[in-house]
Amino acid sequence: MTGRQLPPIELRPRDLTRWKKSDTGVDYVHVFKSPEPGPTVMTVALTHGNEFCGAEALHWALDLGLRPACGTWIVAFANVKAYQSFKAEVPLDSRFVDRDMNRVWRDDWIDGEGTHEAIRAGELRPFVRQADCLLDIHSTSFANRPFFVGRNLPRVRAFAEKLVYPPSMLLQNGSFDGKVMVEYGAFGEAHAQQTALVVECGAHFLKATVMVAKHTLIAFLEATGMLEPEVARRLKPAVPPAETGVYTIESVHIAKHEDLKFLAPYEGFEEVAAGTIIAMDGPDPVVAPFDRCTILFPKAQPRQGRELVTLGKRID
Ligand SMILES: [Zn+2]
Repeated sequence: MTGRQLPPIELRPRDLTRWKKSDTGVDYVHVFKSPEPGPTVMTVALTHGNEFCGAEALHWALDLGLRPACGTWIVAFANVKAYQSFKAEVPLDSRFVDRDMNRVWRDDWIDGEGTHEAIRAGELRPFVRQADCLLDIHSTSFANRPFFVGRNLPRVRAFAEKLVYPPSMLLQNGSFDGKVMVEYGAFGEAHAQQTALVVECGAHFLKATVMVAKHTLIAFLEATGMLEPEVARRLKPAVPPAETGVYTIESVHIAKHEDLKFLAPYEGFEEVAAGTIIAMDGPDPVVAPFDRCTILFPKAQPRQGRELVTLGKRID
């Protein structure tokens, strides 16, 4: 293994029972409509159960009684069952119940699979389909900066730039092993208007990620016109400066073997030369295919059959 340590566990799951029931009839989904016309905007937390910062931010906003100045605001806690299964001894195990919920967003998988995550995605799907704009709030097992992830489309990049922070972005072309929520339906289409972004707020379980999640949530609602600038200014917490950079995701390596080892303690965003052996997947080297190849999402606890590392290229 890499020998890389997970960050300390500064956050624990909170009791979200208060947000279970709503008029929507779908557990942990709330819809607030303003009398003023405007876009339908959706904010999602807990797509991965061990990523607490989004739950903290949405709980905070609901608890404040935040309401849209125009349009419709949908608030969803995606995988509360996984979240509630958290155990500090195995902190990454609460990522999902049966399968990665952020790789299931294809209608035939949602309808046919019968996994906990596919069924829940089916409950969320009508809301996701309605959304003109969607923010899916995550954290990562590597820590060194917050960033956006979105489909490699001009409108997606432009929207992330409008939010200003975090100033790094990964643009992906459908290369993950499965389908992610932010490329579902119109979000992934070149000529549609709908825009969806993931924000990765920093390392799982760190209190600092909550500030990034709250900041991005408020900036997002402001950018959609749903919050008045004055209200947004008052609510948006300060965040530390973060590194900039725009990257395209070039490939995602799925581990074929049980025996997995990184050849350096990668934390993410390192650049390596063409030909560098990044990791060993059993007997097979994972080799950087081009110069200034950027290491993204190096898994802290890699497992056979799952994503080991993502390779990117800096474009800006
Ligand atoms: Zn995640």
